[in-house]
Amino acid sequence: MKATTLMALACALLPVSLADVPAHFSDRAKELLADSVSLTPTEHPLNVVYFLGNDNEPVADYERRLSELMLYVQQFYAKEMTRNGFPGRSFGLERLENGNVKLHLVRGKQPSREYGYGQGHNACLADIREYAAANPGALRSEHILVIMPSFYNEEYNDMSPGGVPFYGLGRNCFALDYAHFDIKHLGQNTPEGRLLTKWLGGLAHELGHGLNLPHNEATVTDKAAMGTPLMGAGNYTFGMTPTYLTLNSARLLDRCQVFAPAGDKTEFYASCPKPEIQAASLKWEGDALALAITCTGCDYVNVLVQDPPYIVNRDYDAVAFCTERVAENQYKVTIPLAELAARQNTGKAEQGIDVLLVQPNGNRYRWRTVFDWSKLKPGDSIPMNPAENFWGGY
Ligand code: ZN
Repeated sequence: MKATTLMALACALLPVSLADVPAHFSDRAKELLADSVSLTPTEHPLNVVYFLGNDNEPVADYERRLSELMLYVQQFYAKEMTRNGFPGRSFGLERLENGNVKLHLVRGKQPSREYGYGQGHNACLADIREYAAANPGALRSEHILVIMPSFYNEEYNDMSPGGVPFYGLGRNCFALDYAHFDIKHLGQNTPEGRLLTKWLGGLAHELGHGLNLPHNEATVTDKAAMGTPLMGAGNYTFGMTPTYLTLNSARLLDRCQVFAPAGDKTEFYASCPKPEIQAASLKWEGDALALAITCTGCDYVNVLVQDPPYIVNRDYDAVAFCTERVAENQYKVTIPLAELAARQNTGKAEQGIDVLLVQPNGNRYRWRTVFDWSKLKPGDSIPMNPAENFWGGY
């Protein structure tokens, strides 16, 4: 009985076979996927939607091109999760019998011009909701990556794609397709190669937002050792120069629905009691900030230190740190001031420190304390705002 249970467990833990790089993939894709890490099977795949207006057609060979690119991005996440201590974990992708990635082809009700950058996502998501209602069970998680062909007009073309939504929006995110969106250009110092870094790096970055990740910047040490964080300016370096995921990002992905291992029955994002902050202290100690938090109901407590303004898309400079759990419900981190490049560069007096509380089901809360360096000296304690002032969803 015990042996059977152990065998069943061993089978459940077997990695997905890597021999499944499809024969019809390009040689360059086969080369780039040759050092794939074994993926932990997942419970809920990411939904990838290829979205068209009622007047356009997919870009040529989109199924092979996007399958190769998506498997490459899946491997990027898997390798970075492995490096961060989460072996083989990545977002799940549904695969077709021929090995391609399942792309839900959804044709919108309106002409493609109605689905443009800015507000086009509203009509697009409404059409995707109709598709989901008409095809029960087709979408298998709450996370959707939408890929739309570039506009083709006097402004946009295959060497200058654009016009369509390209951003993350809650658990949805948007990227685009164009003729040169092909892995054969990856890392090439050519116009098509630089374009691919921008738009594939962009896809990987916007996907990060759609997988619950906020922007974050590297510490000075990590930047020197590992390059650019994907959720910083990594969309401009991906595939060209070293690009990585911070541990801060990896911890959030560990609690993301589409990273959940097969058999994980967590009810992701279901409402549950907020974390309770029982104690918190922030102190300037020597050449570092020392943060200690006691709170209930969290798997992780992450920290971001940034300059004002604290608004979306002005937060690329938020330097990521992770607390260590030192006892049940107690978390600590030491933040060396030398790791805060933004502070050194700008000399700004004010900075904000955000504490990110991550619950086991992926719900997230953010708690901000703002302080003024010019009014502080080593040894000072920095008052933190009342603990009830934190907010969810991010
Ligand atoms: Zn972003």
